[in-house]
Amino acid sequence: MDAPVIIVGGGPVGLSLALGLARYGAASIILERNREPVPESRAAVIWPRTQEILRDWGAYAPLRQAGRFARELRGVNARTQATFVTIDFSTIDDVFDDPGALMLPQSQTERILRELVGSNPLCALRTGAVVGGLAQDQSGVDVFVDGPSGHERLRASFVVGCDGAHGVVRQAIGLTLQGVTYDTRVVLSDETVNVDIPPDITARVRFDLPGLRGAIRFGDRSWRVMASVPKEISDEDALAPLAHRERVRDLFGDAPYETQWSSLFKIHRRHAQRFVVGRVMLAGDAAHLNSPAGGQGMNAGIQDAANLAWKLAFAARSERSAAALMESYDRERREIITDTVERVTDRITRFGITFPMRARQFAIRTFARVIRARGMQRKLCRGIGMLSGRYNTSPIIDARHPLAGRRIDDLRLVDGSRINARRAGQALLIVTGDFALDLPHVRVPSPPKRWHVKPPVVLIVRPDGCVAAVIERPSLERIEAAWRRAFCDALPLPVSA
Ligand SMILES: Cc1cc2nc3c(=O)[nH]c(=O)nc-3n(C[C@H](O)[C@H](O)[C@H](O)COP(=O)(O)OP(=O)(O)OC[C@H]3O[C@@H](n4cnc5c(N)ncnc54)[C@H](O)[C@@H]3O)c2cc1C
Repeated sequence: MDAPVIIVGGGPVGLSLALGLARYGAASIILERNREPVPESRAAVIWPRTQEILRDWGAYAPLRQAGRFARELRGVNARTQATFVTIDFSTIDDVFDDPGALMLPQSQTERILRELVGSNPLCALRTGAVVGGLAQDQSGVDVFVDGPSGHERLRASFVVGCDGAHGVVRQAIGLTLQGVTYDTRVVLSDETVNVDIPPDITARVRFDLPGLRGAIRFGDRSWRVMASVPKEISDEDALAPLAHRERVRDLFGDAPYETQWSSLFKIHRRHAQRFVVGRVMLAGDAAHLNSPAGGQGMNAGIQDAANLAWKLAFAARSERSAAALMESYDRERREIITDTVERVTDRITRFGITFPMRARQFAIRTFARVIRARGMQRKLCRGIGMLSGRYNTSPIIDARHPLAGRRIDDLRLVDGSRINARRAGQALLIVTGDFALDLPHVRVPSPPKRWHVKPPVVLIVRPDGCVAAVIERPSLERIEAAWRRAFCDALPLPVSA
């Protein structure tokens, strides 16, 4: 074996996965055809759930430093300047440490992740390496690569295709991306707009024009402009300077601007039939392709990596657990993509692009009213921040309790620390109520109401922060049994020092 894991594709998902594997002690080789990170902004926002994952893997601080962090997102109507939405992340302070949206162009995210991978001795990034295909057998996978030193065959126990929407890995395991392509085209462009706009405004949108016309902010004067293209306009005309000027003028008036980059896209809602075939897995755009609406695509991919990293690292050490761990990756991530990510992006896409103008104006007025309630703010922050998904049908989660399958809230403990800071990307036992446990654990004296638990209760939290089991009327035997199921016998129970 050249490495326990080979990752095909060093985009944001492949690079994050390599860092996650390293966090659990597993080495990987990342094969990436491009010598440099993508030049375009692409995915513009890193949501709270993804921030937390990258924090667990020691990758968050430099991203945070390079980006624009907003605790509150404010969208204004670009014609009337009236605020139509405020998303106040401080409403989820009690369940997330330092919540907000991190705005950072993907080009920078990739550059920083490459640097982190480059300085991690467990990650070997090989650029200029083009994967042409692979072949798997019972004990491993051969990967065929054309690189700077010619044609090569590398072998690993597992291969992960993080090679994007047109990747070769998915083709090699006989899968396709199935679903729909929306009957619309969208122009995206990055603009430097020379106008002073209050720093708290993060989006400008028009609701009095047919189709989508909006901009989100990266920096003081940098904006991502998005617009749908009417059917009668050709691709060429849609990208012509005149059409471009019109879009910027709709959003910023006559302010001088400079276009950094622009392109025309079709929007999809597609996923592979399976995310795992034998020893080969898919993650990120290779596994699912979503509308950029709601900024979920890259985030969902890094969340795939969070689910997969610990499982792959354990599987690499415990071959007999591998099939069960990989099966759970397939079930859990496909469920989240179809039930949560696709639903959210589909709703926002249809609202933004295909809704008739009057219906959209009515909906946005209603939304603006409803969203003022604190409870709705919390719900919105959890939803858009990607904190509220649930694994309902996983074979390794006992989902009878409503808390199981969800991310563990980041509660503040009595000593002032946060649960997830203490957990730091590792498995954890949480005890609440009158139960003495002679194993390392964190104690929550009184559980919050929303946990719906009656102490004494023990929770098992996985390295990805997901509650694997809620053990009511706990005993050591029941804890051991639940732990074995959660980790497919690949991780021994922690012992007290
Ligand atoms: C214009 C645009 C705007 C977008 N806007 C947003 C947004 O606002 N929000 C959002 O969340 N998402 C957005 N996305 C989507 C986001 O960019 C993707 O979801 C994200 O890049 C997926 O990351 P990935 O690592 O899975 O795949 P990719 O970023 O596609 O990375 C795949 C990598 O694999 C490499 N590769 C491919 N084939 C091979 C091979 N045979 N051998 C070796 N290497 C290979 C590629 O060079 C590439 O580096 C946008 C995408 C585009 C194109």
